[in-house]
Amino acid sequence: MVTPVAQSDYPAKWWTPLPDGRLECRLCPRLCKLRSGQRGFCFVRQNIGDRMVLTTYGRSSGFCVDPIEKKPLNHFYPGTSVLSFGTAGCNLGCRFCQNWDISKAREFDRLADEASPETIATAAQRLGCKSVAFTYNDPVIFAEYAIDVAKACRELGIATVAVTAGYMTDDSRPGFYRHMDAANVDLKGFSEEFYRHQCYGELAPVLDTLKYLRHQTKVWFEVTTLLIPGENDSEAELEKASDWFSANLGPDVPWHFTAFHPDYKMLDKSCTPPGKLTRAREIARSKGLRYVYTGNVHDADGSSTWCPGCGQRLIERDWYVLGEWKLKGNRCSFCGFEIAGHFEEKPGNCGARCLPVCLS
Ligand code: SF4
Repeated sequence: MVTPVAQSDYPAKWWTPLPDGRLECRLCPRLCKLRSGQRGFCFVRQNIGDRMVLTTYGRSSGFCVDPIEKKPLNHFYPGTSVLSFGTAGCNLGCRFCQNWDISKAREFDRLADEASPETIATAAQRLGCKSVAFTYNDPVIFAEYAIDVAKACRELGIATVAVTAGYMTDDSRPGFYRHMDAANVDLKGFSEEFYRHQCYGELAPVLDTLKYLRHQTKVWFEVTTLLIPGENDSEAELEKASDWFSANLGPDVPWHFTAFHPDYKMLDKSCTPPGKLTRAREIARSKGLRYVYTGNVHDADGSSTWCPGCGQRLIERDWYVLGEWKLKGNRCSFCGFEIAGHFEEKPGNCGARCLPVCLS
C-alpha cells in the first residue's frame, strides 16, 4: 500500500509572464501558457498565485539500485551500480510508453518517497553507487530537483545521469546539462510525422539537444531508439537516421537499438523481432558508427563492445551481465585503440540485480 505525499510548491525556473496575465513555461518546446491554477501538459508544473512552481520537488516514485547498463549506458563505468529514481508526469505523450504508470501519473498516488538532494547523494554513497540516475520519467520536467541532486552528488564525488527524451528548449539546455555528467537520450524515430502522431511532440528539438550535447558540452551521452515494428523501423528511415547520426554526432557516440514490447496505448503491435535489431545495427555500422548495440534481448554479439581498431571483443555482455574484459584503462588491450567513454581499470561488480531501496 503506497502512502501518497503532498505536492510541493518549489519555485520553478524558465518561465515568463505574458501581457495577458498568463505564465509561459519555457522549459520545453510546448511553451505551455498557464492561467492561475492551471497545470502544464506535463502535469507537474503549475501556475500558483502567478508564479510557476514545480509540484514534484523532493518527491519520488521510488528508488532502485540498477546496473548502469540498464539506463542503457555501455561506456560509462561499465558494471557499476546506479541509484535510480523518477517522479511523476512527462512532457511527451508517447502511445508506446514503457513506463506509463509513472509518466502518466495524474495524482500523486505514486509518489511514495520524500527525499532531499543530500539524502539521495548520501544514500548513493552508502549503497556503493557510482552514480545517480534521473529516470523512469523525464528529468527535464523536474529539472530544478534533478539539478539540486546533481549538485549534492558532485560534493560527494557521485556522478549523475539524465535518462531523457531530450525535448527541451535552447533556453533550458545549458542550465540543466551544466550539472549532468552523462545522459541517455531517446531518439524515438526519425520523422516529424512519427513524433507528431506517436509522441505528441516534434523531432527537431531532440536533434538540437543531441547536437548541443555533442558540440557544446563534455557530457558523456549515448542514444537509444526503441524499434517498433512497422512504425519507425523501415530501412529507409534507419538509413536516413544513421546518415544524420554519423554527420552530426560522429562515430564515437554509442547507439542502442532496443526491443519494443506492447504497452500502454500500443497493444496492437508485436514485439520487435531480434532480426530487426540486428539489421538496424548493421545499417548504422555501415555508416561508420563504431559502437552500435542491440538491447532488451539476449544477443552476445550485439550487446558486446568490439574494438574498432582490431575487431577483438573488449567487453562481453549478455543483456546487463558483463563477461570478459579486455580493456586496459580506456584502450584496447590488443592493439591500443582508444575507446570513447569513461572506464575504470576493472569493471564494476553490480551484476544484473535491480534492487528496490527505501530512503525514508
Ligand atoms: S515543461 Fe511542462 S509546463 Fe513546461 S512547457 Fe513543457 S509540458 Fe508545458
